[in-house]
Amino acid sequence: MRLIALILLLALPFLAGQAFAEQKRISLTYDDAPRSDAAMTGDERAALLIAGLAEAGVEQAAFFITTAAINSPERLKRIQSYAAAGHVLANHSHTHPWLYKVTVEEYLADIDRAAEIMALFENTRPWFRFPFLNEAPTLEKRDAIRAGLAERGLRNAYVTVDNYDWHLESLYQKAVRAGEPICLAALSSLYTDMLVNAANFYDEAARETMGRSPAHTLLLHENDIGALFVVDLVSALEADGWEIISTDEAYEDPIFDIEPDTRFLGQGRIAAIASLNGRARQTFDHFAINEDQIEDAFRGEYGVTAACPAGN
Ligand SMILES: [Zn+2]
Repeated sequence: MRLIALILLLALPFLAGQAFAEQKRISLTYDDAPRSDAAMTGDERAALLIAGLAEAGVEQAAFFITTAAINSPERLKRIQSYAAAGHVLANHSHTHPWLYKVTVEEYLADIDRAAEIMALFENTRPWFRFPFLNEAPTLEKRDAIRAGLAERGLRNAYVTVDNYDWHLESLYQKAVRAGEPICLAALSSLYTDMLVNAANFYDEAARETMGRSPAHTLLLHENDIGALFVVDLVSALEADGWEIISTDEAYEDPIFDIEPDTRFLGQGRIAAIASLNGRARQTFDHFAINEDQIEDAFRGEYGVTAACPAGN
């Protein structure tokens, strides 16, 4: 008996250390604000998102702003309301260009235009999120933009968890416009399952490659489903063992200081690091970045475009 007690006592600090090391952490980041009116108006969406983040206990999310879309006083107020609620704002370019379609000079000028407008806001961070995560159409462009960002004191606000929440949003909006029945509970399940699975997919890749779980950054968009289901998303992540952290904390991770020497950057930083460590790129295919599979789940398995089953 005493021996068992002694073993337990000796094992405790180790077990506690393991538990600490195993803690999965993630921050929520919303791209493309301020987006246009959809099923919800932009104002309704922003109010719901801010209230949902507060209800879910998310003290700080990040909003990546496309400044050309701030084309009315209402939209300016929406962006200010995110900052006033404690969330941080950062540069997502002025016009959301693809790097492969424009010159380096045009691309940097677009970032500068956005930076002038971002200076009007409180609670900003010197971060740049690449539109479409299109960061390295060529090595020359990748390196020129990296140098340009460094000159401007801007850091690459990478994601670690890529997913096509934008595709699910577009399926939802199309169904709304077509007047189809929609079971919001089913849509919530699909949204949260897709994102929790994506988070675990990249976390497993990180553990396998880096031997640890980094502080993650979840790519989301300022869309209707993001606002409708933020409370459900946080609950689902927490139920799966995730802790929601601020984006400031996420970018304290040492992977913030790495610029992976690859062109495989469109699926986020973990995928880039893992591929440099020899993992095959095609093994990064997964449900949350497969448009056909998401649509099949939307119409089939999850039955979003149907009346909710009784009890929902
Ligand atoms: Zn974007």
